[in-house]
Amino acid sequence: MDNATTEKVSCLIIGSGPAGYTAAIYAARANLKPLLYQGIQPGGQLTITTDVENYPGYPDGIKGPEMMVDFEKQAARMGTEIRFGVATKVDFTGPLHKVWFDDDKIIESPAIIIATGASAKWLGLESEQRLNGFGVSACAVCDGFFFRGKEVAIVGAGDTAAEEALYLSKLCTTVHMIVRRDEMRASKIMQDRVFKTPNIKIYWNTVTEEVIGENKTEAIRVKNVKTGESQRIAVDGFFVAIGHEPNSSIFKGWLDMDDAGYLITTPGSSKTSIPGVFAAGDVQDKTYRQAVTAAGSGCMAAIDAERYLGEKELA
Ligand code: NDP
Repeated sequence: MDNATTEKVSCLIIGSGPAGYTAAIYAARANLKPLLYQGIQPGGQLTITTDVENYPGYPDGIKGPEMMVDFEKQAARMGTEIRFGVATKVDFTGPLHKVWFDDDKIIESPAIIIATGASAKWLGLESEQRLNGFGVSACAVCDGFFFRGKEVAIVGAGDTAAEEALYLSKLCTTVHMIVRRDEMRASKIMQDRVFKTPNIKIYWNTVTEEVIGENKTEAIRVKNVKTGESQRIAVDGFFVAIGHEPNSSIFKGWLDMDDAGYLITTPGSSKTSIPGVFAAGDVQDKTYRQAVTAAGSGCMAAIDAERYLGEKELA
């Protein structure tokens, strides 16, 4: 038996990163009276970064968590109802879609905006988590700038790692690239670019054992799995680029997604495979993954939702 209480709203937004809050600002200003559930990590991935210098409108830069507080305040000021809660189950049989929160609340809404984001995969080392934001990062484009003229390491061997290593090579003196096998998964063209870059030094068959440092990253200890030899590499930054996981598992079976779980939207829109269900931000974007692109797609989702509700006269 389901003892959950039910509530009906005209627009439900799931997620509180730049995509979710921007969707909320637009939906609220369009008088859709949106309800936004923040999810497990209010503010999203930006709350685990330090300085953000590439978001337009902040000429002096801003701390990621502070920026997300600003987003939240703006969404609330426009009239969004913001709640803490985690979506656990959905029923998109429609036209009134249902989403369960924390298993005891059902929100029914004709327009749902999914902005649940993605989570960077981590190695799972204690030192990696402890120094996260203190030299350890999962985003070279976000944080590489802080390591200009310094030595850094990056772990991973896919297209993301190759792209980020190349990005870092333009800023840093040396990029130590830690690859766990004797080959890379990245596309041939990206590998070639990496191989041709003189200040990227590749460590094949190598795993990271520890990030060394008290309050900031000072070095990493790596081990060659073929020879069993360990070595310490002095670095100021350690980038983890071993992939992302879109937070889309509860939508499996309901919405079209690619093999990696990214929700598929109609090109040029935020429409998913189910009418009335829209997706914005990193849960549907494995290419750009920037705060500003997520915000832009959140805006698209709110406009798409408003038009959908208008056309169906559901609002
Ligand atoms: P991938 O899953 O493609 O690659 C992950 C990499 O991390 C692999 O080399 C993997 O090693 C390594 N890895 C995973 N876990 C560990 C671990 N615990 N320790 C050490 N290494 C680990 O993820 P990406 O983010 O690189 O790419 C995701 C998708 O996005 C791909 O389809 C990619 O092609 C695409 N993409 C395309 C870009 C472009 O076209 N410009 C740019 C970025 C991404 P192993 O190979 O041994 O499994």
